Amino acid sequence: MFTVFLIKYAEIGVKGKNKYLFEEALAQQVKYALKRCEGEFKVSRTDGRIYVHALSEFDYDETVDNLRTVFGVSGICPVIHVEDEGFEKLADTVTDYMDKVYEDKHITFKIQARRARKNYPINSVELNKELGSRVLSAFPEMKVDVHQPDVMLHVEIREKIYIYSIEIPGPGGMPVGSNGKAMLLLSGGIDSPVAGYMIAKRGVKIDAVYFHAPPYTSDRAKQKVMDLAKQVARYAGPVYLHVINFTEIQLYIYEKCPHEELTIIMRRYMMRIAERIAKENACLGLITGESIGQVASQTVQSLAVTNEVCTLPVFRPLIGFDKMEIVDVAERIGTYETSILPFEDCCTIFVAKHPVTKPNLNVVKRHEQNLEEKIDKLVQQALDMDEVVIVKWE
Ligand code: ATP
Ligand code: MG
Repeated sequence: MFTVFLIKYAEIGVKGKNKYLFEEALAQQVKYALKRCEGEFKVSRTDGRIYVHALSEFDYDETVDNLRTVFGVSGICPVIHVEDEGFEKLADTVTDYMDKVYEDKHITFKIQARRARKNYPINSVELNKELGSRVLSAFPEMKVDVHQPDVMLHVEIREKIYIYSIEIPGPGGMPVGSNGKAMLLLSGGIDSPVAGYMIAKRGVKIDAVYFHAPPYTSDRAKQKVMDLAKQVARYAGPVYLHVINFTEIQLYIYEKCPHEELTIIMRRYMMRIAERIAKENACLGLITGESIGQVASQTVQSLAVTNEVCTLPVFRPLIGFDKMEIVDVAERIGTYETSILPFEDCCTIFVAKHPVTKPNLNVVKRHEQNLEEKIDKLVQQALDMDEVVIVKWE
């Protein structure tokens, strides 16, 4: 019965030229999400609003599910869109709508008419009254409540007439592409996909980098990361995933540096390499799934030592989250099941029994000097062999 969706957005209430850009970005993302749905759609921006018109048969649930992945959408209103064929016809359509949408008639409602086309012969106050009394006489169980109605029925008189009362919540945030691009350090764990989701939600386009260490990490671990990238792509759009072979670097650090500092030095090289790739790809920041105190490499001291190698800002959206809170988001966005699959990622292979929890920057730097001979060459080799996979949801 619905052929149109009104797409509501909240934060985009930004002003002037920005508003135009934001609406444009949102319309693009809506189009992108609809490409995955069966049927043909037109996305239009009229009257300062975004509408999705179905031009063919379509699957309602599938369409709504996909629209719910678009950041920037605060609500999705399925709309009845009819020609203006006079008041009598409108009254019939409205009562028919209430009948079909609200099986249980024990509800309170309010009609919210809006006469956007001023040559319509009945003004909005009269429309509210007239349509309200038609509904009341058709369904005596229904009651009017103008303060806190169960159902707010919008009737908008424009070129055509729009009728809607349902608002399905969207994810909120800002449309991807409206806030630049950043590079996500994506591992196979629970945290980093959630971190990517959260930054994408603020309108940031996501590229990703994964460090693998074959044969210490398996192809299945890599596949798992690609699956996670795919789930992030469901919300963030296509993700360019850089797969970097980290084996030689890791072995070299293992050979030359104290084992309790392995993780922290590895983390510093990951950040350095991620930053190089980020800069080559117009990314304005790095994103990690770190959270204070979660593991030895995420104490405040460790984070400071890791951070020291970067000049780009590092976004750590989970920094103050407990694991439980991160798991909640992971479950909600659908990454959790994949994240808990057992395949090792490269960090868990070379872990020392007693990693430093309070690394000292000068000491770490001194130990990194042991790497002088070969490390630049190894880093360059790893960058040269960067394997880029474009990961899409479908
Ligand atoms: P996650 O659940 O995201 O794997 P974690 O709790 O396992 O995180 P660490 O292994 O210490 O934590 O990693 C901290 C962050 O460093 C990760 O959230 C991720 O952003 C990045 N990272 C770790 N390992 C890799 C890797 N192999 N490739 C890319 N990024 C990584
Ligand atoms: Mg990890």
